[in-house]
Amino acid sequence: MTTPSTILTIAGSDGSGGAGIQADIKTAAALGCYALSVITAITAQNTCEVQSTYPMTCECVTAQCRTLYSDIVIDAVKIGMLGSSAMTATAASLLRELPRPVPIVLDTVLRSTSGSSLLATDALPVMKQELLPLVTLITPNLPEAAMLLGMESIPEAQEAVEEAALALHRMGAHSVLVKGGHGSGPLSSDCLLHNGRITWFSADKIATRNTHGTGCTLSTAIASFLAGGAGMEEAVERAKKYATAAIKAAVAWEIGSGSGPLNH
Ligand code: PLP
Repeated sequence: MTTPSTILTIAGSDGSGGAGIQADIKTAAALGCYALSVITAITAQNTCEVQSTYPMTCECVTAQCRTLYSDIVIDAVKIGMLGSSAMTATAASLLRELPRPVPIVLDTVLRSTSGSSLLATDALPVMKQELLPLVTLITPNLPEAAMLLGMESIPEAQEAVEEAALALHRMGAHSVLVKGGHGSGPLSSDCLLHNGRITWFSADKIATRNTHGTGCTLSTAIASFLAGGAGMEEAVERAKKYATAAIKAAVAWEIGSGSGPLNH
Protein backbone atom coordinates (compact mmCIF):
# COMPACT_ATOMS: atom_id res chain seq x y z
CA MET A 1 0.00 0.00 0.00
CA THR A 2 1.40 3.40 -0.94
CA THR A 3 1.07 6.39 1.38
CA PRO A 4 -2.14 8.32 0.69
CA SER A 5 -2.31 12.03 -0.16
CA THR A 6 -3.19 14.18 2.83
CA ILE A 7 -5.69 16.96 3.22
CA LEU A 8 -6.07 19.31 6.15
CA THR A 9 -9.63 20.34 6.94
CA ILE A 10 -10.12 23.38 9.15
CA ALA A 11 -13.85 23.33 9.94
CA GLY A 12 -16.64 22.99 12.48
CA SER A 13 -17.82 19.82 14.18
CA ASP A 14 -21.33 18.53 13.49
CA GLY A 15 -22.22 16.02 16.21
CA SER A 16 -24.97 14.59 14.01
CA GLY A 17 -22.24 13.41 11.65
CA GLY A 18 -23.78 14.73 8.43
CA ALA A 19 -21.92 17.96 7.80
CA GLY A 20 -18.77 19.74 8.95
CA ILE A 21 -15.56 18.00 9.81
CA GLN A 22 -17.30 14.62 10.13
CA ALA A 23 -18.44 14.82 6.49
CA ASP A 24 -14.95 15.97 5.50
CA ILE A 25 -13.20 13.00 7.14
CA LYS A 26 -15.67 10.49 5.66
CA THR A 27 -15.31 12.01 2.20
CA ALA A 28 -11.51 12.07 2.25
CA ALA A 29 -11.38 8.48 3.53
CA ALA A 30 -13.82 7.25 0.88
CA LEU A 31 -11.64 8.85 -1.80
CA GLY A 32 -8.41 7.30 -0.52
CA CYS A 33 -7.09 10.48 1.06
CA TYR A 34 -5.84 10.84 4.64
CA ALA A 35 -7.61 13.64 6.56
CA LEU A 36 -6.05 15.87 9.19
CA SER A 37 -8.77 17.77 11.04
CA VAL A 38 -8.60 21.02 12.98
CA ILE A 39 -11.85 21.99 14.66
CA THR A 40 -12.84 25.66 14.70
CA ALA A 41 -16.13 25.27 16.62
CA ILE A 42 -18.33 22.61 18.13
CA THR A 43 -21.95 22.83 17.06
CA ALA A 44 -24.88 21.37 18.97
CA GLN A 45 -27.00 20.23 16.06
CA ASN A 46 -29.18 17.46 14.74
CA THR A 47 -30.79 16.84 11.36
CA CYS A 48 -33.36 19.61 12.01
CA GLU A 49 -31.39 22.53 13.39
CA VAL A 50 -28.12 24.00 14.57
CA GLN A 51 -29.10 24.75 18.14
CA SER A 52 -25.92 26.46 19.32
CA THR A 53 -22.25 26.83 18.48
CA TYR A 54 -19.23 26.81 20.80
CA PRO A 55 -16.16 28.33 19.17
CA MET A 56 -12.67 27.08 19.90
CA THR A 57 -10.17 29.82 20.69
CA CYS A 58 -7.98 31.13 17.87
CA GLU A 59 -4.95 30.06 19.93
CA CYS A 60 -6.25 26.49 20.01
CA VAL A 61 -6.76 26.40 16.23
CA THR A 62 -3.35 27.96 15.62
CA ALA A 63 -1.64 25.44 17.91
CA GLN A 64 -3.38 22.52 16.20
CA CYS A 65 -2.28 23.68 12.73
CA ARG A 66 1.28 24.54 13.66
CA THR A 67 1.75 21.16 15.32
CA LEU A 68 0.58 19.44 12.14
CA TYR A 69 2.68 21.69 9.87
CA SER A 70 5.83 20.79 11.82
CA ASP A 71 5.42 17.06 11.21
CA ILE A 72 3.12 16.05 8.37
CA VAL A 73 3.31 16.91 4.66
CA ILE A 74 -0.01 18.45 3.64
CA ASP A 75 -1.13 18.11 -0.01
CA ALA A 76 -4.29 20.27 0.07
CA VAL A 77 -6.36 22.31 2.51
CA LYS A 78 -10.13 22.63 2.86
CA ILE A 79 -11.64 25.40 4.96
CA GLY A 80 -15.21 25.14 6.21
CA MET A 81 -17.12 26.87 9.02
CA LEU A 82 -15.12 29.66 10.65
CA GLY A 83 -17.82 31.35 12.73
CA SER A 84 -16.22 34.67 13.65
CA SER A 85 -14.13 37.44 12.15
CA ALA A 86 -11.24 36.56 14.49
CA MET A 87 -11.31 32.92 13.36
CA THR A 88 -11.44 34.03 9.71
CA ALA A 89 -8.36 36.23 10.23
CA THR A 90 -6.65 33.33 12.03
CA ALA A 91 -7.37 31.01 9.10
CA ALA A 92 -5.78 33.57 6.75
CA SER A 93 -2.64 33.76 8.94
CA LEU A 94 -2.43 29.97 9.08
CA LEU A 95 -2.67 29.69 5.30
CA ARG A 96 0.22 32.14 5.00
CA GLU A 97 2.24 29.87 7.33
CA LEU A 98 1.78 26.72 5.23
CA PRO A 99 5.26 25.24 4.67
CA ARG A 100 4.67 24.97 0.91
CA PRO A 101 2.05 26.21 -1.55
CA VAL A 102 -0.80 23.70 -1.95
CA PRO A 103 -4.34 23.85 -3.38
CA ILE A 104 -6.75 25.48 -0.90
CA VAL A 105 -10.53 25.06 -1.21
CA LEU A 106 -12.67 27.52 0.74
CA ASP A 107 -16.24 26.39 1.30
CA THR A 108 -17.80 29.80 1.95
CA VAL A 109 -20.03 28.55 4.77
CA LEU A 110 -22.31 31.41 5.76
CA ARG A 111 -25.44 29.65 7.01
CA SER A 112 -26.86 26.16 7.34
CA THR A 113 -29.65 24.88 5.13
CA SER A 114 -31.81 24.96 8.28
CA GLY A 115 -31.21 28.73 8.43
CA SER A 116 -28.67 29.22 11.23
CA SER A 117 -25.85 31.70 10.76
CA LEU A 118 -22.46 29.94 10.68
CA LEU A 119 -20.43 33.10 10.00
CA ALA A 120 -20.88 36.39 11.86
CA THR A 121 -21.85 39.35 9.67
CA ASP A 122 -18.69 41.25 10.61
CA ALA A 123 -16.58 38.34 9.35
CA LEU A 124 -17.75 38.75 5.76
CA PRO A 125 -15.39 41.68 4.96
CA VAL A 126 -12.49 39.74 6.54
CA MET A 127 -13.31 36.72 4.40
CA LYS A 128 -13.41 38.89 1.29
CA GLN A 129 -10.30 40.95 1.99
CA GLU A 130 -7.98 38.52 3.78
CA LEU A 131 -9.01 34.98 2.93
CA LEU A 132 -10.27 35.09 -0.66
CA PRO A 133 -6.94 36.17 -2.20
CA LEU A 134 -5.13 33.27 -0.49
CA VAL A 135 -7.29 30.40 -1.72
CA THR A 136 -7.30 28.41 -4.94
CA LEU A 137 -11.05 27.82 -5.19
CA ILE A 138 -14.18 29.10 -3.46
CA THR A 139 -17.41 27.09 -3.61
CA PRO A 140 -20.37 29.38 -2.80
CA ASN A 141 -23.95 28.33 -3.48
CA LEU A 142 -26.21 30.93 -5.09
CA PRO A 143 -27.31 32.60 -1.81
CA GLU A 144 -23.69 32.68 -0.56
CA ALA A 145 -22.45 34.13 -3.87
CA ALA A 146 -25.12 36.85 -3.57
CA MET A 147 -24.09 37.65 0.02
CA LEU A 148 -20.40 37.85 -0.94
CA LEU A 149 -21.27 40.20 -3.80
CA GLY A 150 -23.62 42.31 -1.66
CA MET A 151 -26.60 41.43 -3.88
CA GLU A 152 -30.17 40.52 -2.88
CA SER A 153 -30.04 37.36 -4.98
CA ILE A 154 -28.54 36.05 -8.20
CA PRO A 155 -30.90 35.25 -11.08
CA GLU A 156 -30.71 31.59 -12.07
CA ALA A 157 -30.07 32.40 -15.74
CA GLN A 158 -26.78 30.94 -16.96
CA GLU A 159 -25.33 34.33 -17.94
CA ALA A 160 -26.14 35.81 -14.51
CA VAL A 161 -24.40 32.92 -12.73
CA GLU A 162 -21.35 33.23 -14.99
CA GLU A 163 -21.27 36.98 -14.32
CA ALA A 164 -21.37 36.27 -10.56
CA ALA A 165 -18.43 33.85 -10.90
CA LEU A 166 -16.47 36.52 -12.78
CA ALA A 167 -17.32 39.16 -10.16
CA LEU A 168 -16.11 36.85 -7.37
CA HIS A 169 -12.88 36.27 -9.32
CA ARG A 170 -12.42 40.03 -9.65
CA MET A 171 -12.95 40.23 -5.88
CA GLY A 172 -9.80 38.12 -5.41
CA ALA A 173 -10.68 34.42 -5.65
CA HIS A 174 -8.42 32.58 -8.09
CA SER A 175 -11.06 30.05 -9.17
CA VAL A 176 -14.79 30.05 -8.42
CA LEU A 177 -17.43 27.30 -8.38
CA VAL A 178 -20.94 28.77 -8.07
CA LYS A 179 -23.23 25.90 -7.06
CA GLY A 180 -26.77 25.92 -8.40
CA GLY A 181 -28.29 23.19 -6.22
CA HIS A 182 -30.47 25.81 -4.48
CA GLY A 183 -31.99 26.82 -7.83
CA SER A 184 -35.52 25.85 -8.86
CA GLY A 185 -34.92 23.71 -11.98
CA PRO A 186 -34.70 19.89 -12.32
CA LEU A 187 -30.91 20.02 -12.59
CA SER A 188 -28.22 20.86 -10.08
CA SER A 189 -25.85 22.87 -12.29
CA ASP A 190 -22.56 24.29 -11.04
CA CYS A 191 -20.52 26.93 -12.86
CA LEU A 192 -16.72 26.73 -12.63
CA LEU A 193 -14.51 29.66 -13.57
CA HIS A 194 -10.90 28.55 -13.74
CA ASN A 195 -8.03 30.29 -15.55
CA GLY A 196 -10.50 32.40 -17.52
CA ARG A 197 -12.50 29.35 -18.67
CA ILE A 198 -16.13 28.66 -17.77
CA THR A 199 -17.19 25.01 -17.44
CA TRP A 200 -20.67 23.81 -16.40
CA PHE A 201 -21.25 20.60 -14.43
CA SER A 202 -24.81 19.27 -14.20
CA ALA A 203 -26.56 16.39 -12.49
CA ASP A 204 -30.22 15.48 -12.10
CA LYS A 205 -31.60 16.74 -8.80
CA ILE A 206 -32.48 13.85 -6.49
CA ALA A 207 -35.80 13.88 -4.66
CA THR A 208 -34.68 13.39 -1.06
CA ARG A 209 -34.52 15.21 2.25
CA ASN A 210 -31.14 13.64 2.97
CA THR A 211 -28.80 16.36 1.74
CA HIS A 212 -27.24 17.49 5.01
CA GLY A 213 -23.56 18.21 4.41
CA THR A 214 -23.64 18.18 0.61
CA GLY A 215 -21.55 21.37 0.39
CA CYS A 216 -18.98 20.06 2.87
CA THR A 217 -18.78 16.78 0.95
CA LEU A 218 -18.32 18.43 -2.46
CA SER A 219 -15.62 20.87 -1.33
CA THR A 220 -13.67 18.15 0.50
CA ALA A 221 -13.96 15.81 -2.49
CA ILE A 222 -12.54 18.57 -4.72
CA ALA A 223 -9.68 19.13 -2.23
CA SER A 224 -9.02 15.37 -2.10
CA PHE A 225 -8.77 15.06 -5.89
CA LEU A 226 -6.56 18.17 -6.08
CA ALA A 227 -4.36 16.66 -3.35
CA GLY A 228 -3.94 13.60 -5.57
CA GLY A 229 -2.75 15.78 -8.46
CA ALA A 230 -5.92 16.17 -10.53
CA GLY A 231 -6.46 19.39 -12.51
CA MET A 232 -9.26 21.72 -11.43
CA GLU A 233 -11.88 20.70 -14.03
CA GLU A 234 -11.21 17.00 -13.46
CA ALA A 235 -11.34 17.46 -9.65
CA VAL A 236 -14.69 19.26 -9.80
CA GLU A 237 -16.18 16.75 -12.25
CA ARG A 238 -15.16 13.74 -10.16
CA ALA A 239 -16.21 15.45 -6.90
CA LYS A 240 -19.66 16.25 -8.25
CA LYS A 241 -20.09 12.63 -9.36
CA TYR A 242 -19.01 11.47 -5.90
CA ALA A 243 -21.38 13.84 -4.04
CA THR A 244 -24.29 12.91 -6.33
CA ALA A 245 -23.64 9.20 -5.76
CA ALA A 246 -23.46 9.76 -1.99
CA ILE A 247 -26.86 11.54 -2.05
CA LYS A 248 -28.38 8.73 -4.15
CA ALA A 249 -26.99 6.07 -1.81
CA ALA A 250 -28.72 7.68 1.21
CA VAL A 251 -32.19 8.18 -0.30
CA ALA A 252 -33.71 5.32 1.72
CA TRP A 253 -31.92 6.22 4.97
CA GLU A 254 -33.98 7.37 7.93
CA ILE A 255 -31.52 9.03 10.28
CA GLY A 256 -33.25 11.80 12.21
CA SER A 257 -36.47 13.52 11.21
CA GLY A 258 -34.96 16.43 9.28
CA SER A 259 -32.31 16.65 6.57
CA GLY A 260 -30.36 13.41 7.03
CA PRO A 261 -26.75 12.64 6.09
CA LEU A 262 -25.26 11.37 2.84
CA ASN A 263 -24.02 7.80 2.46
CA HIS A 264 -20.26 7.95 1.85
N1 PLP B 1 -22.67 22.42 10.45
C1 PLP B 1 -21.41 22.63 10.11
C2 PLP B 1 -20.35 22.46 11.15
C3 PLP B 1 -21.10 23.00 8.80
O1 PLP B 1 -19.84 23.22 8.44
C4 PLP B 1 -22.14 23.14 7.84
C5 PLP B 1 -21.89 23.52 6.46
O2 PLP B 1 -20.81 23.72 6.02
C6 PLP B 1 -23.44 22.90 8.24
C7 PLP B 1 -23.67 22.55 9.56
C8 PLP B 1 -24.61 23.05 7.33
O3 PLP B 1 -24.73 22.00 6.48
P1 PLP B 1 -26.04 21.95 5.59
O4 PLP B 1 -26.17 23.30 4.96
O5 PLP B 1 -25.76 20.89 4.60
O6 PLP B 1 -27.17 21.65 6.50
